[in-house]
Amino acid sequence: MEKKTECEIVQDLLLGYSDDVLNPESKKLVEKHLLECEVCRKKLEEIKKDSKDEESEKKQIDYLKKIRIKNRIKSILIAIGVVLCIALILFLRKFIIINNLLNKSEKSLKSNNMYIEKSECSLNSGETSVYRTYYKDGKCKQTFDIYSENGIENIYTKYAEINSDEQIYINEKEKSVKIEKGNLIGVFNTEKSLKYVPFVQNRSLYLKLGMVFYYGIDTSTYEIGRDYYIFRNIVDKSRNYEVWIDKDNGLPLKEFQEDAIRTFFPGTEIVKNTANMDVNFKYSFDTVTDEDVAVPDFTGYTVENIDYNLEDLENK
Ligand SMILES: [Zn+2]
Repeated sequence: MEKKTECEIVQDLLLGYSDDVLNPESKKLVEKHLLECEVCRKKLEEIKKDSKDEESEKKQIDYLKKIRIKNRIKSILIAIGVVLCIALILFLRKFIIINNLLNKSEKSLKSNNMYIEKSECSLNSGETSVYRTYYKDGKCKQTFDIYSENGIENIYTKYAEINSDEQIYINEKEKSVKIEKGNLIGVFNTEKSLKYVPFVQNRSLYLKLGMVFYYGIDTSTYEIGRDYYIFRNIVDKSRNYEVWIDKDNGLPLKEFQEDAIRTFFPGTEIVKNTANMDVNFKYSFDTVTDEDVAVPDFTGYTVENIDYNLEDLENK
């Protein structure tokens, strides 16, 4: 009877004994009893076996957990990788488009025979300024007309030549000629400035990379029957600025900005008027004749000579 009670006590302690957390007295008691009792020894073995199983189960669970974490990290890394790849592909796609267009524009602007028409709707006034540039073999004529409801008014026709230091302005209506001369005028008689179109003049790598971040690119044929890309400012969306670039020649077809001008009723935030900036371009190649760029005979016109020499200005 007494022995059975001791067995019970020992068996209650066996779990602690197996984990080695008993105080020295209890430990001694258990060890002493185990020497004498076969039943309790067997119990201890069972407990040890169980705990071994438990341990291996725990190890297995840990292992599974580790795999799960690893898998999770893996899928996060894959997701990041996919996003980066997509970003890289979009970046490259844009860069290739921009690079191709700017290369085409460079080729177009090298043409020795080219016509550029630029019409600019004046903000608010209902007038449109039209500049027509005829360029052939270094000689250039530019007409400037204003279209309005009253008709077409020619402001001037300008003649210039590359590397010359002279520009001739003819006003047919007033039968007058203004001849501007001097090294300050010569500065404007470069191929680049006589054939100037916006947006495609700078073709540095730095600018191309900047354009990749600055513009979203769509493609369209809407309105004008030509294939073109639309470059939209995506950094400053409040500007609503876009440029259309011809896919064939890389030159701008349209520059547009919504609400480029906004006026308000005085002292209020009530919009009184808005006006969009809208500039349109047309081009043709190999259509300019020698007569187009030849300075006409202006005998009988009043002639005004104006000197723009740097030394003269310095002397004044
Ligand atoms: Zn026992």
